[in-house]
Amino acid sequence: MTQQEWIERDFYADLGVPSTASAEDIKRAYRKLARQLHPDANPHDQAAGERFKAVSEAHAALSDPATRAEYDRTRQLYRSGAFRRAGTRSGAGGGGPAGGMGGFDLSDLFGGESSSFTSGEAGFGDVFGDLFRRSGTRTTASRPRRGSDVEAQTRLPFRQAVTGVVLPLQVSGPTVCTSCHGSGARPGTQPRRCPSCGGAGTLTRNQGGFGFSESCDDCRGTGVIVDSPCTDCQGTGVGHRTRTINVRIPPGVTDGQRIRLPAHGEPGLRGAPSGDLYVTVGVDPDPVFGRDGDDLTVTVPVGFAELALGTTISVPTLDGRVSVKIPAGTPSGRTFRLQGRGVPLRGRAPGDLRVTVQVAVPAGLNQRAIDALRAYEKAEKAAGFDPRTTWPGRR
Ligand SMILES: [Zn+2]
Ligand SMILES: [Zn+2]
Repeated sequence: MTQQEWIERDFYADLGVPSTASAEDIKRAYRKLARQLHPDANPHDQAAGERFKAVSEAHAALSDPATRAEYDRTRQLYRSGAFRRAGTRSGAGGGGPAGGMGGFDLSDLFGGESSSFTSGEAGFGDVFGDLFRRSGTRTTASRPRRGSDVEAQTRLPFRQAVTGVVLPLQVSGPTVCTSCHGSGARPGTQPRRCPSCGGAGTLTRNQGGFGFSESCDDCRGTGVIVDSPCTDCQGTGVGHRTRTINVRIPPGVTDGQRIRLPAHGEPGLRGAPSGDLYVTVGVDPDPVFGRDGDDLTVTVPVGFAELALGTTISVPTLDGRVSVKIPAGTPSGRTFRLQGRGVPLRGRAPGDLRVTVQVAVPAGLNQRAIDALRAYEKAEKAAGFDPRTTWPGRR
């Protein structure tokens, strides 16, 4: 299996188990499938034979905890776009970091490009080459490679999300461990080739005329033995780098929106373009305003008398206040639309501010107010007003 196949293969899917499956689940799924698909049981079925091989390989990778951890971690890095290189994406508007499964080669990342990795001894490219080079393909390194895409998250107060903001953002991404230069071995020491499997990481065992590929126990499938692991990366060879960049969040982002900032990702190698930065923005709610698409909403409490008699109310806007005239006889719950006072959008007309009036009923009244309301009620009845006159639910 090439390293690319190794990464792109979904061993969990091969076994029909979720990636969270326990070791016991994996063993059970493998036994069941191996029985079903075994060549002895399907002597002339080529598809079953291929499935059997895939299931055996998946089991070999997932049954060993260290190999499984390595597989999970590498796939996660791969999916995060950490290992993307130039030419695997179509056009500038390409999809998210999960796209573009083609043309992946770890040696591109770690091999040969920096002299520190290949200073005559077992550099990281060699180590990982051994780890992944199960059937021996290795592309030449030192070509330009587009920078990795980077994911980041931030939270904004409601009003900054509406108006847009420039903010410093800390982004971190995987990088080669600076202490061991990616070898996973403590500085000054070298990983050595596993003597049991000769660096292949797997041992082949024949059973019923069929070759089983088994993970090597001595090196736990890595093909190398690290006698003293690097303490900074716990032997993984992968470090993290954090940098601060100023990003411009456009006006009108909504809670959970993912924004692409072209060329703000990791820098490219050898003149290749930078990757993109994707920022997922969480928006805190506002005590006054709500959002409905491009419109801002605000609910203003009013008195019954204000609606019945008409009034002018003062309403907050994003940048100040505005007076809104409420005509006499306005029903509670009516919404007034103030054009252009909503979300100030770039390149198109701003949204509206929708002002809803809602009667606030006092929880307690003093005697004078009670007397006045009783008098009002009487006058209302005398004038023939019934609040349910036009209500369809009236009997
Ligand atoms: Zn080995
Ligand atoms: Zn390290």
